[in-house]
Amino acid sequence: MSTLQIVDLHASVGDKQILHGVNLTISSGEVHAVMGPNGAGKSTLSAVVMGKPGYTVTAGSILLDGREMLGVPTWQRAAAGLHLVMQYPTEVPGVLLNDVLSEALKGRGRDGDVGRLDTLLRTEAARIHFEEKFLDRPLNVDLSGGEKKRNETLQMSVLKPAIAILDELDSGLDVDALRDCARRVMDATREDGLGALVITHYSRLLEELKPSRVHILVKGRIVETGGPELADVLERDGYEAFKNT
Ligand code: ADP
Ligand code: MG
Repeated sequence: MSTLQIVDLHASVGDKQILHGVNLTISSGEVHAVMGPNGAGKSTLSAVVMGKPGYTVTAGSILLDGREMLGVPTWQRAAAGLHLVMQYPTEVPGVLLNDVLSEALKGRGRDGDVGRLDTLLRTEAARIHFEEKFLDRPLNVDLSGGEKKRNETLQMSVLKPAIAILDELDSGLDVDALRDCARRVMDATREDGLGALVITHYSRLLEELKPSRVHILVKGRIVETGGPELADVLERDGYEAFKNT
């Protein structure tokens, strides 16, 4: 059982304050959605939780099972169980998917899984309809938007993090890829006890990836938290009602 606690998180880029005191707690097996308009700070939140360079945390705390993650290098946060599925997956020419995952598994002391990585990859690829020919390519190079997101989902399902942040998994995906990826994440919450923090601004993703809590982020603050019905309210009325809170 793992818990990620984001406490009163304030963060800035350069001299611009972007997060103004975000509070959010998510535990194993739970799906929480963070919804908000463009520019609300959703990607900033995911970047700061993972420790991406370029952001300054000016107050607050990020605790994984009570351990402070602020100041811990990104790779150690990942080894501790945090994972980010990126909004815009990076192409890494010259680095094979296989090498990335075997190093990551070694870093987690999972030598047994390194030995059976090939089988694991093929099983997981079939599950989300990711073509096997892409498994031997450099990471994300020349993949379409949908293939990149399938690739990101594949990495998550092999690494089995405790808590994953999915930053707009639905951006750049067609409906089939969206369903495959969303179902795989939902399955991971049931099979492996994954805690999933799902960032999106459309409720369509949430039809497959069903959140128990929905948080609305506007201008760097969570202005409303509710159950799944909150996503339906947004679908109907948009963010207008929350923009001035
Ligand atoms: P969202 O993901 O909700 O659309 P972002 O977190 O990407 O929002 O951005 C929040 C705000 O912070 C925006 O106004 C954006 O322009 C600004 N911002 C984000 N990253 C940077 C950066 N590296 N440099 C300058 N401004 C940034
Ligand atoms: Mg974003």
